[in-house]
Amino acid sequence: MNFHVRALLIDINGTVFDHGDAIDGAPKAINRLRDGGYALRFLTNTESKTVEVTLESLRACGLHVEREELFTPVVAAQTLLACSPGARVLPLMSEELRKAFPPSGRTVGAPAATPTHVIVGDCQAVLDYPLLNRAFRAVRAGAELIALQRGALYRTPQGEEFLDTGAIVAALEYGTGRSARLLGKPSSEYFGLAATSTGFSPQETAVIGDDATTDGTGGRSIGAMTVQVRTGKYADQVAAGVAGGASHTVASVAEVPDLLRRLEHATP
Ligand SMILES: [Mg+2]
Repeated sequence: MNFHVRALLIDINGTVFDHGDAIDGAPKAINRLRDGGYALRFLTNTESKTVEVTLESLRACGLHVEREELFTPVVAAQTLLACSPGARVLPLMSEELRKAFPPSGRTVGAPAATPTHVIVGDCQAVLDYPLLNRAFRAVRAGAELIALQRGALYRTPQGEEFLDTGAIVAALEYGTGRSARLLGKPSSEYFGLAATSTGFSPQETAVIGDDATTDGTGGRSIGAMTVQVRTGKYADQVAAGVAGGASHTVASVAEVPDLLRRLEHATP
């Protein structure tokens, strides 16, 4: 299949950024790709930080990413709601992240408007039984259940484990008998919304990432070209036997500009 790549969906963690530092050569590669006229989107499943906080941590290590180039599950949900006039969101997420969404319409002294969407993100700082039950009742009454990601647990660098967003989503799915709509990796809807936001089709898009199970699977699900980088999770996935399947494999994102140049010249 010939690809005329115009847009790049680039994974952040393990691909351009790792443990607080830029991957070697990533800042220069990003600048070359932008100068080359590619539309860029940077993807992460992180839904516990605002867009501003994520941008700041990238810029602090020399990775220049524009606000409109960052495509998180929060941005995907905002994109979706922009097509739903009158949406009333019940957000199960931190106070900072809640500001990104229209409220469910509750005003002092008035009955709460019925939510049209229940969106579940990082809610560890705000979740209690009344809020969880309010979400349960809203979904039972017809609100759409949206998950910003489906991680079951996460582990701190010190090895401490925490229940993650996906476990809360699973509780609501179990209680309501409804399935959540996933707006994070590896859902094809997430990758499709990211590609659409560039103005190019999935067939003009390449997904670049270190994780064969999310970036690779998601990219293939929309018909995009996939580029596996051998940084980040790559070694662990090779050991686990789940790497592979990408259209192309390179040592790191630093090699992507030359790869695309070769492909461009090879394409009739
Ligand atoms: Mg990654």
